[in-house]
Amino acid sequence: MINPDPETPICSAKGCRAPAAWVLAWNNPKIHTPERRKTWLACEEHREHLAQFLGVRGFLKDVVRFEEWEAPEGA
Ligand SMILES: [Zn+2]
Repeated sequence: MINPDPETPICSAKGCRAPAAWVLAWNNPKIHTPERRKTWLACEEHREHLAQFLGVRGFLKDVVRFEEWEAPEGA
């Protein structure tokens, strides 16, 4: 399956091709410096699932609407 529009960000959930509606910012303190932010994208359906996955590990830092998300400089 080829994404018809490579500019359209899609959900990070496994097998999901839905457009991203949310950005989940996270950090794994074992491998990342504290200010580092990794991001996952989530559709409406998978936001809770992905947030819970990160949350139980203590990695989740922020959940932001995709249109309100601004990537840090240089990311
Ligand atoms: Zn999804």
